[in-house]
Amino acid sequence: MAKSYQAPRGTQDILPPVSDRWHHLESTFRKVCERYGYQEVRTPVFEESGLFARGIGDATDIVSKEMYVFEDRGGRSMALRPEGTAGIVRAFVEHKLAGEKSAWKVFYFMSIFRYERPQAGRYRQAHQVGVECFGPTGPDADAEVIALNMAWYRELGIRGHELRLNSLGCPVCRPSHRQALSEALSEVRGDLCPTCQGRMETNPLRVFDCKSAECQALVASAPSTVDYLCAECQSHFARLRDLLEAMELPYELAPRLVRGLDYYTRTAWEVKYSGLGAQDALCGGGRYDGLVEELGGPATPGIGFAAGIERALYALEQGGIEIPGRSARGTLVIGLDEESRRRALLLAESIRGHGLRAETDYFDRGLKAQMKQADRLGARWAVILGEDELKTGRAVVRDLESGDQSEVPIDDVPGWLDRA
Ligand SMILES: [Zn+2]
Ligand SMILES: [Zn+2]
Repeated sequence: MAKSYQAPRGTQDILPPVSDRWHHLESTFRKVCERYGYQEVRTPVFEESGLFARGIGDATDIVSKEMYVFEDRGGRSMALRPEGTAGIVRAFVEHKLAGEKSAWKVFYFMSIFRYERPQAGRYRQAHQVGVECFGPTGPDADAEVIALNMAWYRELGIRGHELRLNSLGCPVCRPSHRQALSEALSEVRGDLCPTCQGRMETNPLRVFDCKSAECQALVASAPSTVDYLCAECQSHFARLRDLLEAMELPYELAPRLVRGLDYYTRTAWEVKYSGLGAQDALCGGGRYDGLVEELGGPATPGIGFAAGIERALYALEQGGIEIPGRSARGTLVIGLDEESRRRALLLAESIRGHGLRAETDYFDRGLKAQMKQADRLGARWAVILGEDELKTGRAVVRDLESGDQSEVPIDDVPGWLDRA
């Protein structure tokens, strides 16, 4: 036998019927986004690697340890996208979509790629849905994006998740927090893990993200960003909290929540789900007011979130939530001899022409075997054509739910099924 191949480590094949569950998650997301006036955007799977180094931050684990970087045949350094926002900002800038007092609101479905140690719930090719909203600065936009995020989980029927909220401040107030944090951390510097000792030089805020229990304990009492907010950041955050309360969206304040990416400003949130690991959330989002400018565009605020599809599926399974079954159960058109099988193929095609699902059997089987096949397909109707039916021009249509049979002129079958 020839050599066979396996999917690369950390990837998965999404096969039917599991793909139905994926479709359900995605179509629900699309529906929710459209209600909020968002439109779909699709960007390339790979970009210049410099875009991510600049947009996400050289010092992040994502860029320094996990990104799939490769040189293309023209000698350019490219990377498979490790997250969604940088590429969308790049498109926003490239197509000059910024406008005064206008919002560009987009949603996406995408694969992202990170070279992680494969483990439960972590993939090297993972899948996300998300939204980005460019333009508005006010907290009403933050509240609306969070509401959209929560509406998706509500619509899916997911329960037991928790919204955690923080404010990270802005370029005005962040330096004073950074200073206080650096001072507090330098007292315990020797006890921090080597990675965090390095982070103290690049971005001490990222020590909050450390997965080591020792570092977590050390930062538990470190100064938090909310205590250093400037007046504008304070009122932005207060207004957002007021709106969330008015919209009856419960949340918990999470002063240690800083998100893994360097570009967030002010609002940051995540949705936790018990059962996912301590470091894992259903989704994460935040405001990134400096990112468009950082990537060469005109100063334009932005806010968005990304949510893992694999994690949402996990929550659906944990919650025992059934997804709606296929609504179109369809028809199997059965031909009993060569001539009838020819007619069956044509009849199936004409049923499909009416927008209905129809299949035929491919294996020259007898009536009994084909009826079993109809059962396996979950078909609602079986249409039977044999020598007699072709002679009289009338097909036997069997309702597989009730067992009732009708004789219908062959040419009328599509219309009859359409009315049934
Ligand atoms: Zn501020
Ligand atoms: Zn650490």
